[in-house]
Amino acid sequence: MNYRIPFVNPRLHYQQYKAEFDRAIESCLSNGDLIARQQLRDFEAHFASFVGTKYAVGVNSGYHALALSLLAAGIGPADEVITVAHTFVATISAIVHCGAKPVLVDVGGDYNIDIKSMESALSSSTKAIIPVHLNGRCCNMDAVCEFARRHNLVIIEDACQSLGARYRGKMAGSFGLTGCWSFYPFKILGCFGDGGAITTDDPKIARSATLLRFNGEDRDTGEYLFHGFTALLDNIQASVLDVKLKHFPKWLEHRRQVASRYRKGLEGIDGLRLPHFKGAEYEDAFQNYVIRTSQRNLLRERLKSAGIETLVSWPKPVWKHMALNLGSLHLPETESICNEVLSLPMSAETTLEDVDCVCAAIKDSI
Ligand SMILES: *Cc1c(COP(=O)(O)O)cnc(C)c1O
Repeated sequence: MNYRIPFVNPRLHYQQYKAEFDRAIESCLSNGDLIARQQLRDFEAHFASFVGTKYAVGVNSGYHALALSLLAAGIGPADEVITVAHTFVATISAIVHCGAKPVLVDVGGDYNIDIKSMESALSSSTKAIIPVHLNGRCCNMDAVCEFARRHNLVIIEDACQSLGARYRGKMAGSFGLTGCWSFYPFKILGCFGDGGAITTDDPKIARSATLLRFNGEDRDTGEYLFHGFTALLDNIQASVLDVKLKHFPKWLEHRRQVASRYRKGLEGIDGLRLPHFKGAEYEDAFQNYVIRTSQRNLLRERLKSAGIETLVSWPKPVWKHMALNLGSLHLPETESICNEVLSLPMSAETTLEDVDCVCAAIKDSI
């Protein structure tokens, strides 16, 4: 279907920066810079400095950022890792694939980890916690860090949706042992395929991640130090990301403008909850603009008829996918969120006129 207002617009995005993207890609190809070349190191340095960490290690997905972080932190069989059920499945798969047990907890009204549930998920086997900064909003990192310190837990941040978000002035992804990033095309900073990164201040973790992503080989001596993976960020993708990172501050500002326009257009509608939450310590990045209503399915159908594309993340609680073997859980907030949330069009290409159209269509619909 051809939407009047698409959820995101990758073709327009490419057209707008075509000359810069083409130049970056052409330079890689004509110089034969394909694997682990200068473009990758440059992007890693710029990305680390943007996030405010000493190191960034480019990997080929957000999933691998999480999985390699857990391995580098020594998490494995017999360990438990606390995270939320309301996340992309890759957060949980990373825990399962390193042999540990995911302990899933509920979220609060801002879609991020519920602090009280976190306490009750603790056991003598808990080794790590993965706070997920969902939709471009940081978790309450005072509470998460204090909890982790008290119980001697490693913090691995799932920052895949939170580039540019801050908590008390500090960037998401710079609190934990590592921050894990995805550059999947529709993330706030996306490449033209799969990509990801690990940020950290710890030189040992940065080195382990660098070895793990490249088959465990010490590139200086040729010695294989352990069984690793083929999970590098492609050099071409890194060169595109480096171009995009320069534009990122302006895109972030634009998203915040889009969010305030939605707020202005939608505030005060009965039964509609908007993603503007309390707390002066939070600066949200609006990876997604998620509204909540008990009439979600009806609203989505009506917007579709009006030519407006929306997204539901996620319509079914993850533990109800029986093949994943996550046990049977009762997490009331997660369950109602799955029935009620709707993500509205939001990207660097979404215009304020688009937002006004979406708001008008929502008002007509409920
Ligand atoms: C996108 C995403 C991931 C994983 O990203 P991939 O690059 O697709 O592997 C993990 N967690 C969250 C919350 C995400 O949104």
